[in-house]
Amino acid sequence: MEKNLIDWKQELAIALKNEQITNLRFFEFMKGKIKKVPFLVEDFGWGVFPIINENGILEDIRMIVPVIYDIKSLCVNLHEYTHAYELFSSLGKVYEWHVEESEQKARSAEKRYLLSLDDKK
Ligand SMILES: [Zn+2]
Repeated sequence: MEKNLIDWKQELAIALKNEQITNLRFFEFMKGKIKKVPFLVEDFGWGVFPIINENGILEDIRMIVPVIYDIKSLCVNLHEYTHAYELFSSLGKVYEWHVEESEQKARSAEKRYLLSLDDKK
């Protein structure tokens, strides 16, 4: 398949679905909170940012991801969406960031996506 013929928006939707990131309330909640920047993957510090109130309660989520233009930028999106989805399940609770676990989870999501590309060949 020609790379430029890939519908990246749809490709991301499929990848998220494969990771069981499907809760419509999550996507509704994240509306207007995701900044998509047209930079190269290497040129920016992408991430998910928890917003915590004075009592340590997770109140909100912000996310900065690259505009998707290839598989690498799609992987960054999938990675950050995985983090955001995890945070979403902790909204209203005391914020605890399990860095190691979260990183592993987000990296596994990327790996599974890359493996699914091999299956398509
Ligand atoms: Zn991460």
